[in-house]
Amino acid sequence: MNRNKVPFCYRQKSTLNLFCLNIPIKRIIPGSLNVICVHSIVLALQISRPWGTCQAGWRSMSNRPAPDMSSDQAAGMTSFPPLQTYSEEESMMREAVKKYAQERIAPFVSKMDENSAMDEEVIKSLFEQGLMGIEIDPEYNGTGSTFFSSILVIEELAKVDPSVAVLCDIQNTLINTLFAQLGTPAQKEQYLSRLSTDMIGSFCLSEAESGSDAFSLKTRAEKHKDYYIINGSKMWISNAEHAGVFLVMANVDPSGYRGITCFIVDRDTEGLEICKKENKLGLRASSTCPINLDNVKVPEKNILGQIGHGYKYAIGMLNEGRIGIAAQMLGLAQGCFDNTIPYTRQRVQFGKRIFDFQGMQHQIAHVATQIEAARLLTYNAARLKEAGRPFIKEACMAKYFTAELATLTTSKCIEWMGGVGFTKDYPIEKYYRDCKIGTIYEGTTNVQLSTMAKFIDKEYDH
Ligand SMILES: Cc1cc2nc3c(=O)[nH]c(=O)nc-3n(C[C@H](O)[C@H](O)[C@H](O)COP(=O)(O)OP(=O)(O)OC[C@H]3O[C@@H](n4cnc5c(N)ncnc54)[C@H](O)[C@@H]3O)c2cc1C
Repeated sequence: MNRNKVPFCYRQKSTLNLFCLNIPIKRIIPGSLNVICVHSIVLALQISRPWGTCQAGWRSMSNRPAPDMSSDQAAGMTSFPPLQTYSEEESMMREAVKKYAQERIAPFVSKMDENSAMDEEVIKSLFEQGLMGIEIDPEYNGTGSTFFSSILVIEELAKVDPSVAVLCDIQNTLINTLFAQLGTPAQKEQYLSRLSTDMIGSFCLSEAESGSDAFSLKTRAEKHKDYYIINGSKMWISNAEHAGVFLVMANVDPSGYRGITCFIVDRDTEGLEICKKENKLGLRASSTCPINLDNVKVPEKNILGQIGHGYKYAIGMLNEGRIGIAAQMLGLAQGCFDNTIPYTRQRVQFGKRIFDFQGMQHQIAHVATQIEAARLLTYNAARLKEAGRPFIKEACMAKYFTAELATLTTSKCIEWMGGVGFTKDYPIEKYYRDCKIGTIYEGTTNVQLSTMAKFIDKEYDH
């Protein structure tokens, strides 16, 4: 198939085969979400691209009724879309990923959890669908979509399997973004093209003795002529089992954190050892491995960004990444809720559906409200980030709140299901195990709260 031209109604087996295409395009991966973006281009040609008219950081939304500006203006008000408004592209992406997750991921979830292993077919299909390079430019085989779309994708995947969601999340919100923002043209050419089609990346910051205090890391990089020698070890590295590239934070100047530098280390580099994966409570399908770096030789050209700026990059990426984890926790909570409520509507005790007891209804309504609040916090942080406005405090709030919400929801759902909720016959106990990580990685709950408090303190400086 000529990938530069799609001359006929595009049909293939994928569940995402939704749209007819008849225009030349730069790049399309068969069966991928690129299809959706291309469809948006078709629409854009017809109705002008929905987000082409961004004003004051807001996206114009094509799928909402046009605001009644005349009456609003007459009343001296401006009309803004509700937060849960999606562009045409976002709506399509959401629907398509929902269908994909049900059809291509759901059948594997229980087995992957039991075996503590991500199924190769799942990984392959994520790439095929364009979900591993959502924001990557089509020039590098990416889907060419937006940060907000990534958040919607992570949420939808987490409804079905939070392990698959974190694979997609780390790739999109940390690895791809670091390469896209900091990579030299050669690095982008070499890595972005692979990251969107067949290569997983891992982010290596934490060490055995440096977790929350990440910048006290001990891994060293010593300069020799035009290369560096890295020695040290990393802990808790997500997706390491399948990763082809590792972004390793190592210090070139042991006197302080201002020597921390980001190195691109290929999997087959001599001296890089990916150790046995952790046996975890939850997220069992997502591999989490220690890594040893024993005299690993890395050419100077494999420095990502500037020497000594690694700590800044790590902070920056984790700020964005937290919105991704918020989306993961939000999706997890919603998925658990969606799997529970139908049961409460069917189960009869004392001659009534258990849903009909007021004691149940009040709890269910309370959790539904918390889910709604979590969604608004998460979407708001994502929209702020996308609009180029300050978002760090809001990202911390979203991550903190969604992690708490996921804990509450999964615990309540088990209670609402009674004994069967406690068994592996239903997916609820897995959501309960999976949610705990939300309060730990990409900054613990205490770290989120401390960061928020710093902002609040500053706000009252004057
Ligand atoms: C499944 C999993 C996947 C992970 N994936 C990755 C990855 O891909 N890459 C990576 O680099 N890292 C990863 N991590 C590491 C993760 O980011 C760290 O576990 C996390 O930052 C916490 O560090 P720690 O485990 O050392 O806990 P500690 O920092 O030792 O914290 C222990 C407790 O002390 C509290 N605490 C610490 N300092 C303070 C303080 N100043 N004020 C108040 N309370 C404090 C914490 O809130 C926590 O409750 C992963 C971890 C897990 C479990």
